[in-house]
Amino acid sequence: MSGYERGRLLSKFADLVDQHTEELAALDGADAGKLLLVGKVIDVPSATQMLRYYAGAADKIHGEVLRVSGKYQGYSLREPVGVAGVIIPWNFPTMMFFLKVSPALAAGCTVVVKPAEQTPLSALYYAHLAKLAGVPDGVINVVPGFGHTAGAAITSHMDVDTVAFTGSTEVGRLIMESAARSNLKPVSLELGGKSPLIIFDDADVDMAVNLSRLAIFFNKGEICAAGSRVYVQEGIYDEFVKKAVEAAQNWKVGDPFDVTTNMGPQVDKEQFEKVLKYIEHGKSEGATLLTGGKPAAAKGYYIEPTIFVDVTEDMKIAQEEIFGPVMALMKFKTVDEVIEKANCTRYGLVAGIVTKSLDVANRVSRAVRAGTVWVNCYFVFDPDAPFGGFKMSGFGQDQGLGAMDKFLQVKSVITAL
Ligand code: NAD
Repeated sequence: MSGYERGRLLSKFADLVDQHTEELAALDGADAGKLLLVGKVIDVPSATQMLRYYAGAADKIHGEVLRVSGKYQGYSLREPVGVAGVIIPWNFPTMMFFLKVSPALAAGCTVVVKPAEQTPLSALYYAHLAKLAGVPDGVINVVPGFGHTAGAAITSHMDVDTVAFTGSTEVGRLIMESAARSNLKPVSLELGGKSPLIIFDDADVDMAVNLSRLAIFFNKGEICAAGSRVYVQEGIYDEFVKKAVEAAQNWKVGDPFDVTTNMGPQVDKEQFEKVLKYIEHGKSEGATLLTGGKPAAAKGYYIEPTIFVDVTEDMKIAQEEIFGPVMALMKFKTVDEVIEKANCTRYGLVAGIVTKSLDVANRVSRAVRAGTVWVNCYFVFDPDAPFGGFKMSGFGQDQGLGAMDKFLQVKSVITAL
């Protein structure tokens, strides 16, 4: 199929997804405890924006004219790699699906998608809508199942040509091993994070408190890019802490289908228990619990927005990804000190900076080892902004035109003149 034709199909697919926004947001809400309203105004619209971005790119995949010495002419082609395995997590079932599937289809690949076992419903619905849009049979294949069965079957399969994975660092390692043991397929890994949000003395405290609340409590902290380590400079620290606690206590936990709710339940019992265990670690390692720290309801996997202070860099709650509504708040004095602290985990996914100083913003943006830096904002995702990790947050790129590279391979053609 030509690039133009692929683009046309992807646009039609996007139109159909738009028309089913309500049901799709409800499926993710039921599966993952995500807020219905957020699904309708963020997840599904972002997905169709992604589809349309790559629809426009599908007929602009170029090779190059090569400068071959001697009596030869050369050119390169960029061809689809073939079958792409796509393995995704449960925290953003819709966005994760389209982050991978849109560039893969634009590049001309077919996909075998394995949604997370907790959240298969929207992926199945997307396959159905793709069929209605006219995507040929066999182009989008959805295989629900567990990681060690359905997922492992994809990563070890000799006919799968590449794997695009988003999930935990531990499973990323298994996927790389499996690819190495089978057909040496290339893999791209978008993995975990423990991202710092750095707030300087010159910040507007109210604005910084709101950003920090969004950074850790949005989607109940189940976000790879969550700002889970909040560093606040000493001059505004006391005021910040007081206001951050009030803001956390005003963050309404409850039914994700109620439009007044700010935060629904953790995705499942396992995740609920994992978060509570980290809270216990925080307490036993000597951090001070200022608010939250326990289930928010007698029934269901709800956890109160939680804030710890007196956290030190060696504690588990400062180093490990909790994937829940738990903020580790720390005080710092100087720019150099906070750069060192911000970089002291094995992860490097994102960083946030709040300051009015352009100098400080530029200096810290360049010094932090993170794939994305948000200055005076947080969670600003755009199809055109490359997203990927440094260090053990993975490698490979989502978003941006470069995300198609993992689904393309380059061929040189050299002809004697
Ligand atoms: P996970 O790694 O447990 O699972 C992710 C996917 O991998 C699921 O579909 C799962 O079934 C599958 N899987 C598990 N074992 C497998 C195996 N042996 N072979 C093949 N597939 C296997 O992650 P999760 O708990 O679903 O999601 C949370 C994690 O995802 C967090 O660490 C989070 O940071 C990360 N995440 C990263 C990004 C990013 O862009 N960097 C985005 C969202 C989530």
